[in-house]
Amino acid sequence: MQNRIRNFSIIAHIDHGKSTLADRLIQECGAVSDRELGTQMMDTMDIEKERGITIKAQSVRLTYVKDGVPYVLNLIDTPGHVDFSYEVSRSLASCEGALLVVDASQGVEAQTIANVYIALENDLEIIPVINKIDLPAADPERVKEEIEHTIGLDCSRALGVSAKSGIGVKELLDMLVDVVPAPTGNADGPTKALIYDSWFDNYLGALALVRVYDGKIAKGQEVYIMGSGKKHEVLSLMYPHPLKQEKTATLEAGEVGIVVLGLKNISDVRVGDTITDNRNKAKKPVDGFEEAKPFVFAGLYPIETDKFEDLRDALDKLKMNDGSISYEPETSAALGFGFRVGFLGMLHMEVIKERLEREFDLDLIATAPTVTYRVIKTNGEIKEIQNPSQLPAPNEIDRIEEPYVRATIITPSEFLGNIISLVNGKRGIQEKMDYMNPQRVLLEYAIPMNEIVMDFYDKLKSATKGYASFDYDLSGYRVGDLVKLDVRVAGEVVDALSIIVSNDKAMTKGREFVKAMKEIVPRQLFEVAIQASIGNKVIARETVKSMGKNVTAKCYGGDISRKRKLLEKQKEGKKRMKSIGKVQLPQEAFLTVLKID
Ligand code: GDP
Ligand code: MG
Repeated sequence: MQNRIRNFSIIAHIDHGKSTLADRLIQECGAVSDRELGTQMMDTMDIEKERGITIKAQSVRLTYVKDGVPYVLNLIDTPGHVDFSYEVSRSLASCEGALLVVDASQGVEAQTIANVYIALENDLEIIPVINKIDLPAADPERVKEEIEHTIGLDCSRALGVSAKSGIGVKELLDMLVDVVPAPTGNADGPTKALIYDSWFDNYLGALALVRVYDGKIAKGQEVYIMGSGKKHEVLSLMYPHPLKQEKTATLEAGEVGIVVLGLKNISDVRVGDTITDNRNKAKKPVDGFEEAKPFVFAGLYPIETDKFEDLRDALDKLKMNDGSISYEPETSAALGFGFRVGFLGMLHMEVIKERLEREFDLDLIATAPTVTYRVIKTNGEIKEIQNPSQLPAPNEIDRIEEPYVRATIITPSEFLGNIISLVNGKRGIQEKMDYMNPQRVLLEYAIPMNEIVMDFYDKLKSATKGYASFDYDLSGYRVGDLVKLDVRVAGEVVDALSIIVSNDKAMTKGREFVKAMKEIVPRQLFEVAIQASIGNKVIARETVKSMGKNVTAKCYGGDISRKRKLLEKQKEGKKRMKSIGKVQLPQEAFLTVLKID
């Protein structure tokens, strides 16, 4: 049976047409009616749709008949953002092939390359697909040359398609069946299945999406999860489909399916873990089980202090859906009780904060994101910190190490100068510069991650009118010359505002920080000093003048309703404020640091 199965993914830079092509393949295989195809099938979460990115990997089992022979095609979707590269690699580990989609009017971009690397690491057969050939600006030949030049992938069999109009899609399916190898697991061996995605369903509990390598999984079987060390009974099995999941009695070697174990907790079916038979265990789990590790951290605090328990409940619930977040309670002198939450990256952080506010109706203050620093103390102790206010006193620190990323940037050559000065300002070290053709350049840099987490991507976009693409992965720790910069409001250090910065930039940062804060801190009834300091040394100061007169005095006597409106507006505004000592700070104050260079 395995020779009738093809497991594949679609990999692409964002917007190159992955979701559109997925929908088109689903339609071509008749898995949904035209009516059901109204919206994109493969992106299900609201936020995903709004932002046009795929966060959770979806899968669908299709049937395609070629030369009268029916084949099972398992389309395994991958998350479409750099923050989720760990999940990409788990998804690709479940496939034998990948369709590499490149926009014929754009060419190779940073995530194209990142995804190809992951596909190659997993020994996948890669089929280059040049999409959007219907566009007038399409230049498939140039794009093929770029793929050959930068990735070294043979493009002689590359297919030109239009996911939108359907041109070339049937040929693509035929090629897929011919070129992607069938799975070759040991069908009679002990069960070995990789959990490559998991999520929480309100009715069925925690679900595991698996790829079976060896043996089979059957309803009623007692299985053993190798990483968690727990055994469970298989309650039911289903084939994945975005609309109607079909039940099955078994999942055989080579197949992909959903395993229902009736578990309440998603942490029992962690992505990357291996399912085996409890009585006849596999010798080894599927390679490379490691947990997704958050590497961006921020404090999340409810604006209303009595909402702390609600925030905890909300995080508990979200964690059931997204095993990659981590959180621990923390307290801040300024913000009260909250959590230090770990994310896979900046987008992940935004998505989680947005979901907490939207789905759980919470008003939250987020502190500036930070990376994990490794502090080597003079007494030899090594301490990992994810919150700048935990940094030990300077005399206890021998050195601080900070994480670096390897960043890939692809840009039209006209913006090269802008990018080089931007990245130099972020302490970036150039490691490669390659003209893909006279118009486009590929750059590789080592950059301290803390310079990236702030707002690098936005700056890159504005330096290149949105034309540059960017991707990164972690590349290890290096010693940095770093100090903690504090901000004092009315004389008091506001712990939630502290940041760790490179020593040679501390002075400028401090100055810009207080200047930006001055614009944000509303006038109070008294004068408020805003200072930046390192240790006990104040390095910059601004003053927010006192308000003086009552605001309502501005409304001339007669207009009562206008006056009332103004007062109501003030009250509304107050709700979103946080009192720090006697001073009221608005929510944006805690993200001011993101606005400075
Ligand atoms: P993804 O981010 O890779 O999933 O990209 P999408 O599938 O969401 O497509 C991004 C945009 O390109 C959407 O506006 C699509 O309608 C459009 N698009 C996708 N494929 C084609 C195509 O073959 N031709 C044209 N003209 N537009 C396409
Ligand atoms: Mg998409």
